[in-house]
Amino acid sequence: MTTGSPRRRANAAVMDLLPSLRAFAIPMRTRFRGITVREGALIEGPAGWGEFSPFAEYGPRECARWLACALEAATTGWPAPVRQQIPVNVTVPAVGPEQAGAIVTSAGCTTAKVKVADRGDGDFAESLRADLARVAAVREALGPDGRIRVDANGGWDVDQAASALGELARFGLEYAEQPCPTLADLALLRRRVEVAIAADESIRRAEDPLAVAAAGAADIVVLKAAPLGGVRAALAVAEAAGLPVVVSSAVESSIGLAAGVALAAALPVLPYACGLATMSLLTGDVTGSPLAERAGSVPVRRPVVDHAHLAAFEVDAAPWRSRLLAAAEFLEPGAGG
Ligand SMILES: [Mg+2]
Repeated sequence: MTTGSPRRRANAAVMDLLPSLRAFAIPMRTRFRGITVREGALIEGPAGWGEFSPFAEYGPRECARWLACALEAATTGWPAPVRQQIPVNVTVPAVGPEQAGAIVTSAGCTTAKVKVADRGDGDFAESLRADLARVAAVREALGPDGRIRVDANGGWDVDQAASALGELARFGLEYAEQPCPTLADLALLRRRVEVAIAADESIRRAEDPLAVAAAGAADIVVLKAAPLGGVRAALAVAEAAGLPVVVSSAVESSIGLAAGVALAAALPVLPYACGLATMSLLTGDVTGSPLAERAGSVPVRRPVVDHAHLAAFEVDAAPWRSRLLAAAEFLEPGAGG
């Protein structure tokens, strides 16, 4: 594998790893992105296990970046960590205030991410009243030193966001994640409100964080390792964007989550808690030692697949083999080291 073009070397790596491929389907505790079962594939190489778990609607070109992340994990491993624990946030879905408080109290985190702007059947005013009650309950549960960020998932227009964030600001917000859907709206809003703005959905590809920075659309970028093509690719994106980074998972098994943890561990500075406490969303794992949150942190380590645990969730690998081979056609030269 030392000769030939970079593209050929990447494809040779794929062919080498293909026999190790196993597939899993793990039921989720709560619906996420409209799915109730998290599915994916695992490959093992000389550097360890990698996860390839792009969401079902992604085509081969998009899946190629997820594959590059899996190949990096399996063939070269990750840059050395500069920290051994990653502070993480607890996530509070759009639930009532009582349940919101209980979720925060039962987690060990001092940072909470609260979902807001979930319109349901109601209008903006009704939804904002619910948001205010939820965030108030979270502030009460966290105490004055806890940090609260809200995530609107692009659910507000600029005027709604300005008005909602103006009111929510009384609870003390560290930032607002994707308050509006477009870069142009985020940039407008950012000039109207005091609270810091983080871009999440605006970042799907490697070039997006640069566009966010260029547009002056955010103070913070939320990055995920797999959709950006792996830990090294995401580190390069972070450096080019020049903005503080919050690392988030794509709700992978512990094998895929480890890439996000490695990214958070290798960033030169990490001023905010990360969105990596997602093992609690799954009913099981493919390892006997999940990368679960404890006392507000996730440890920096690499779990290995435990075949007894995998067996409980293992499914037919054939569809994933096809998906992986289709993605391999779109691997960028040099992907996976
Ligand atoms: Mg988000």
